[in-house]
Amino acid sequence: MEPVFKYIDDNADRFIKRLGTAVAIPSVSASVKLRPEVRRMVEWTKAEMDKLNIQTELLELGDQVLPSSGVLKLPPVIFGQLGNDPKKKTLLAYGHVDVQPANKSDGWDTDPFLLTEIDGKLYGRGTSDDKGPVLGWLNAIEAYQNQKIDLPLNLKFVFEAMEESDSDGLANLLMSKKDSFLKDIDFICISDNNWLSKNRPCLTYGLRGVCHFFVEVECSSKDLHSGVFGGSVHEAMSDLIFLMNSLVDVKGRILIPGIYDSVEPITSEEDSLYKDIDFDLEDLRKDIGCEKLLHSSKVELLQHNWRHPCLSLHGIEGAFSEPGAKTVIPRKVTGKFSIRIVPNQDPDEVQRLTKSYLENCHKTRGSPNKLRVTTSGSPAWISDYKHENYTAAKKACKKVYGVEPDMTREGGSVPVVFYMEKATSTNVLLLPMGACDDDPHSQNEKLDISKFIDGTKLFAAYINELGKLGK
Ligand SMILES: [Zn+2]
Repeated sequence: MEPVFKYIDDNADRFIKRLGTAVAIPSVSASVKLRPEVRRMVEWTKAEMDKLNIQTELLELGDQVLPSSGVLKLPPVIFGQLGNDPKKKTLLAYGHVDVQPANKSDGWDTDPFLLTEIDGKLYGRGTSDDKGPVLGWLNAIEAYQNQKIDLPLNLKFVFEAMEESDSDGLANLLMSKKDSFLKDIDFICISDNNWLSKNRPCLTYGLRGVCHFFVEVECSSKDLHSGVFGGSVHEAMSDLIFLMNSLVDVKGRILIPGIYDSVEPITSEEDSLYKDIDFDLEDLRKDIGCEKLLHSSKVELLQHNWRHPCLSLHGIEGAFSEPGAKTVIPRKVTGKFSIRIVPNQDPDEVQRLTKSYLENCHKTRGSPNKLRVTTSGSPAWISDYKHENYTAAKKACKKVYGVEPDMTREGGSVPVVFYMEKATSTNVLLLPMGACDDDPHSQNEKLDISKFIDGTKLFAAYINELGKLGK
């Protein structure tokens, strides 16, 4: 690996400059106005891939239906392929080239679309999420090719440009390519999350799913004045608060009967994965500025974030929320909450249990008001972390960083992971490049130069380790 690593070090400045070119294209997928820039970003990325002799194809996704009205053409997805040797295994890498919105006026200290280096950190929208990792793959391939080292794997790529807008259209495309482009994949690697710490790399093997709930209570055909009607009607808001207050206790335990029945018990082997993780409870508490956390040990807290379900209340539509006193009795209010679900929990079952619990509570309370509960949900994901895909990535971490990576899960949900796995029936590994303090969706997103360069080496070393497995 030494010549490849040396090439990456020697070309660091050029790689950073190229990241700067990518950051300068404001490919904000949520913006209607910037949609041409998103397309330009896709075309720019394709051209960079073409330079490496990767066979690329742009796949159109059709139209996006806008919430306001009308349709907008979705940006295409890039499929790429390098090598087609039946004697080698095939790795599929996924990344995205669209970004979250960013404006200087949001509180950025620098221009978000001008890559700016300060103290070894590269500031700019998309540096960490996910233009840095996408270019990391291309840098690694360039290093192999330049050093005339045969790539030990066939490589395939799926780079999309709607990830920050729910990967609109991608799931259907992937499923339709199940028996063609996505056939015969041996490993999948997604680099689109972050390390848990600032100092130690990690491999991520699990994500929670999520079920959304909308609880609508209606008490009258129009809003009422409390001076005129207060004391005469069953109020929708009181019913809703009662329901929302019946969901979770002060310890964070969900009160819906049966909700924990299908949660997998923790084995001692699983428990041992948490012991050495580089994570400080007190740092987290100070960072978010809260008085006391729900759990007092690192292991307990991480497990409740990653592998136990949780319920969060989000808001009430239709309720008065402006400053000052108001005497309205809202005619209809909709409470919103979600449950993050974990492996083994079936989203349909969670929705059914929750809905029937709410209907029972409402019945017990005895209000004549109309209750309507609507729901949606997506499953959790967990990978086999003993798979050789993970073993190879562990060895690559050791080689580049000299340490064993933390084995992590995340409390959030990334639907594309689930669809990738479904379309290929292949082991998926999440191999992040950036650290926990990169602020990917926030102001001042950054990627450390060291993380960008070492991350590029990590991808190169991972390819090498997978290659050693042979066919
Ligand atoms: Zn991302």
